[in-house]
Amino acid sequence: MIPVVALVGRPNVGKSTLFNRLTRTRDALVADFPGLTRDRKYGRAELEENEFIVIDTGGIDGSEEGVETKMAEQSLTAIEEADVVLFLVDGRAGLTASDEAIAKHLRSRQKPTFLVVNKIDGIDADSACADFWKLGVDDMYQIAAAQNRGVTALMERALAPFVEEWKARQAEEDDGFVDIESLDSADAIEKANLTEEDAEAAYKRLQEQPIKLAIIGRPNVGKSTLTNRILGEERVVVYDMPGTTRDSIYIPMERDGQEYVLIDTAGVRRRKNMNEAVEKFSVIQTLKAVEDANVVLLIIDARENISDQDLSLLGFALNSGRSLVIAVNKWDGLDNEVKERVKSELDRRLGFVDFARIHFISALHGTGVGHLYESVKEAYQSATKRISTSLLTRIMQMAQDDHQPPMIRGRRVKLKYAHAGGYNPPIVVVHGNQVNDLPGSYKRYLMNYFRKTLDLMGTPIRIHFHNSD
Ligand code: GDP
Ligand code: GDP
Repeated sequence: MIPVVALVGRPNVGKSTLFNRLTRTRDALVADFPGLTRDRKYGRAELEENEFIVIDTGGIDGSEEGVETKMAEQSLTAIEEADVVLFLVDGRAGLTASDEAIAKHLRSRQKPTFLVVNKIDGIDADSACADFWKLGVDDMYQIAAAQNRGVTALMERALAPFVEEWKARQAEEDDGFVDIESLDSADAIEKANLTEEDAEAAYKRLQEQPIKLAIIGRPNVGKSTLTNRILGEERVVVYDMPGTTRDSIYIPMERDGQEYVLIDTAGVRRRKNMNEAVEKFSVIQTLKAVEDANVVLLIIDARENISDQDLSLLGFALNSGRSLVIAVNKWDGLDNEVKERVKSELDRRLGFVDFARIHFISALHGTGVGHLYESVKEAYQSATKRISTSLLTRIMQMAQDDHQPPMIRGRRVKLKYAHAGGYNPPIVVVHGNQVNDLPGSYKRYLMNYFRKTLDLMGTPIRIHFHNSD
């Protein structure tokens, strides 16, 4: 489970500064859903290579009239969805009435909450903090977000239960003995240091596993309609999965001998009947679904322009490295002129995701829906395909022969060998001298070369560089 951290506090205490600090490490894209979630921002962040989601809840001014309503509207959902709340106050400004109003509200939520006193740079932190004990907290943390002081220590404390879990998982993976049957992710297989032959077998098993598919898209693009269409199809066998309501967003199914688990972000299965109002769109649920999926099916509405929200969701999918298929929905009843316009807009705005297949479908009538499975399978297979060291090294060599790396500090960069470093997304690790200093243009050249030569449709690929001199 990927932890969710909410940043709460009145305006100007430094929430966005902290947000940027936390998400910067992996140039996180921000899903900003105007109108839908006010000024809330969502980002992906990392603590020691483990991912978590951060929400900047925007400004809550506790001193305003009707603070309860305002908070309920703006950040209640964010707080509900969070595993941990960081309550920020301004160490320079001291305690304010807004802080007290927010604290009161947070106490009633009973979420693990950490009081974070920000802007302690250049002031006497302990005396500045003394006042804040009035908020009735057990502990407080002093940071200077702008200077990155105290931030890592804070996150280590705030995410301590998750850090424990991550460590336990890591220890299990590092534990010498491996049972091939138990390797349920490509990462685990790579870390297990198997012989080529055993790795081959493990990958084969992996490719036969159910494909976890997340259908995502902004409100009203047709997610529920498509989900219902898929589940209602004659050729689809849907299994009941025991579990709580929380779990029931995972729907196991089978089609043409391939097993899938549909991650139902539209909440279709939670409605008791079709007429019941659709649950409120939840960005967090969508982001978690992306993290948990093998393949993301992004739905775009042909009747609306491609919006920033579409691009934000796309950004998250790309950032997560998951495989991707795009479906342009509501393709029924459009005249040719409109269709051409939509297609050229797609080219213009989504041209950069050239690895993803685009389908034009009508979830309402079922047109084109059947073909989605092929692309989903292809995308999964591309993402989990075993690529041998010899093949990767050969391709790397060809790329180098076609186009020599530049000289750096008077020395020619030399690529030596390449091997796989992970799957879904495939990671290629390139070893050589000074490779970390290669210019971005050459890195992109290599990436495109690998992608084209390996013909990996539906999945992004990543390259890591290792200096070996
Ligand atoms: P938000 O409204 O809570 O999101 O606050 P911002 O992140 O926009 O920060 C408000 C102001 O406080 C900005 O001018 C920041 O540069 C400043 N600020 C944020 N963190 C620090 C810090 O650690 N030290 C100091 N001195 N200023 C900070
Ligand atoms: P969600 O919010 O993404 O789950 O979207 P819904 O599935 O609830 O669909 C939103 C609206 O779009 C509903 O009125 C649907 O009937 C309509 N809709 C969904 N798919 C299609 C389609 O393929 N064609 C047309 N014309 N309308 C559709």
